[in-house]
Amino acid sequence: MTRIAVVTGGTRGIGEAISLKLKEKGRHVIANYGGNDEAARAFSSRTGIDVRKWDVGDHQACLDACAEIEAQFGPIDILVNNAGITRDATIMKMTFEQWDEVIRIDLTGCFNMAKACFPNMRTRSWGRIVNVGSVNGQGGQIGQVNYAAAKSGIHGFTKSLAMEGARVGVTANAIAPGYIATEMLSTIPDNVMEKIVEQIPVGRMGQPEEIARGVEFLTSDNASFITGSTLSINGGQHMY
Ligand code: NDP
Repeated sequence: MTRIAVVTGGTRGIGEAISLKLKEKGRHVIANYGGNDEAARAFSSRTGIDVRKWDVGDHQACLDACAEIEAQFGPIDILVNNAGITRDATIMKMTFEQWDEVIRIDLTGCFNMAKACFPNMRTRSWGRIVNVGSVNGQGGQIGQVNYAAAKSGIHGFTKSLAMEGARVGVTANAIAPGYIATEMLSTIPDNVMEKIVEQIPVGRMGQPEEIARGVEFLTSDNASFITGSTLSINGGQHMY
């Protein structure tokens, strides 16, 4: 049986690697994205993976998109909540809009998508949900009260969802990536990035593929006894 997998933010960066890895393992992947049509088109023609545009921060859009996917392909078995943005500023400078946008997309987006997918997973007694948190949700970071709050929230969200899914065959886990070489980091100045890398015990940034392997494992049948956990993939940067 081919499992249906939805990867939010699945057309670029870490999400692209996750979509590819799940496809390689025989999943039918639908990759969501938020606005970059050109990148999504290029990704789809390169990989043959179906792409769908909607805003994960829009509750109704998530319900509608998942209903359409299920009508077309069948019930969603695997949900990877990967879409995320940053709007960095210290609290002195951060606007309410910057706070609100990050919470809405990075955290509420996970709720919106789980709300859309969980009922059918529960009915069929099988489901895998992986939420992408962050090392900065675990340890905090200057200039990221919005992002760290959202990502830290993901870890609590995941544990509660895991408790609700445990008796009905639905697992929920989080992955907390460290610094991974994607466009998301392109706004960080080189000198700051060098200092960050100095603090990573393995001495380098991670690659998207290194996160994708973790997601693939957590969404496989092999991970049936793993739920409510956070897998940190960060080169040893944060060990708590
Ligand atoms: P990128 O910026 O490279 O890609 C982000 C993806 O999310 C894109 O596909 C983008 O779509 C999509 N997206 C953004 N907003 C929305 C939205 N409102 N609705 C739907 N899709 C949206 O990010 P990364 O690959 O670096 O990050 C992926 C995840 O990993 C994020 O949750 C991030 O917080 C997390 N993470 C990343 C780290 C890193 O070092 N890179 C470290 C720790 C965590 P579009 O192409 O249309 O813009």
